Amino acid sequence: MEAIVACPTCNLMQRVEELEPGMLAECGRCGSIIARRGHDSIVRTAALSLAALTLYGAYTGMAFPLYTEAKKERLDWSPR
Ligand SMILES: [Zn+2]
Repeated sequence: MEAIVACPTCNLMQRVEELEPGMLAECGRCGSIIARRGHDSIVRTAALSLAALTLYGAYTGMAFPLYTEAKKERLDWSPR
């Protein structure tokens, strides 16, 4: 799919064809890189998403025991 991209250096608007993995597109006027497609970008995105989900689960797991400990203390202090 074709996209229209503005060069970040000289603001020249250019059409950029869909890039193959590892390719980059340069500005026709100043030579700045205006588009880039890395290798295995989908795999990297999936790996980072999985890592974020794991870290979120670990954080949540650390937060909930504190909540249950506070709840236990509240039960121990209840009048008998
Ligand atoms: Zn440019």
